[in-house]
Amino acid sequence: MEKENILGVNVSITSYENLKDSIVADIKNSKKSFIVAINPEKILKARKDEKLKKLLNNATYQIPDGVGIIYASKIKKGKIKSRITGIDCMDMLCNLANDKGYKVFLYGAKEETIKLAKSKLEEKYQNIKIVGYINGYEKDNDKIIKAINKSHADIIFVALGSPKQENWITSNMDKIDALIFQGVGGSFDVISGNIKRAPIWMQKAGLEWLYRLIKEPKRIFRQLKLFKFLFLIIFSKKEI
Ligand code: UDP
Repeated sequence: MEKENILGVNVSITSYENLKDSIVADIKNSKKSFIVAINPEKILKARKDEKLKKLLNNATYQIPDGVGIIYASKIKKGKIKSRITGIDCMDMLCNLANDKGYKVFLYGAKEETIKLAKSKLEEKYQNIKIVGYINGYEKDNDKIIKAINKSHADIIFVALGSPKQENWITSNMDKIDALIFQGVGGSFDVISGNIKRAPIWMQKAGLEWLYRLIKEPKRIFRQLKLFKFLFLIIFSKKEI
């Protein structure tokens, strides 16, 4: 899949349809895939952390999650035109699992959140097979791996926050028999209803960050980094 390099980090140039087809092909070919959501915050972290940069660049798909990525691509006359958010990608994979019978495992978030997320997903996707779950505070990694392998899951969603979830996936992918691994951050909190997502019009207007800021004002420090990111993009000489 074609990629665009933004301040050293690869971002996939794709659409939901294209991504879906690629993932179906990966499953058919028994090819392991790692989906990582890219936003300006992760790119800034990766600039200072060579190991993280390598890890992000080694993922199979780097989806353009943040609106800042779209701005960056536009400024540099790149080809990435629309977002693929982590949670929408997860929704697409759940639909796929629902239609094709792929088995799903959930790992991460607090026990009550993950239980609630599981039942909400089962309500929404009537045929989905969620074959297991484990909260994100379990310390025994062997126990986690055994539970996942025993479940014979095909798709695993990992919600430990970033970059913890990306580190976990990279270190454990080889030991797990599943094929599709996606780091989904706070998605279980949204699915369970603990955290509400912005109204659709705000999502479409690229204002999801503003909604999250109003709900969680302490995110201001994380969000101010978007300005630093755009400043770096504007003044970086390298074209995409
Ligand atoms: N979390 C976890 N184990 C940890 C740390 C965090 O399961 O050791 C969970 C936490 O409960 C929350 C999610 O990871 O559900 C982090 O969400 P956040 O919105 O911070 O992630 P982001 O997408 O911003 O990286």
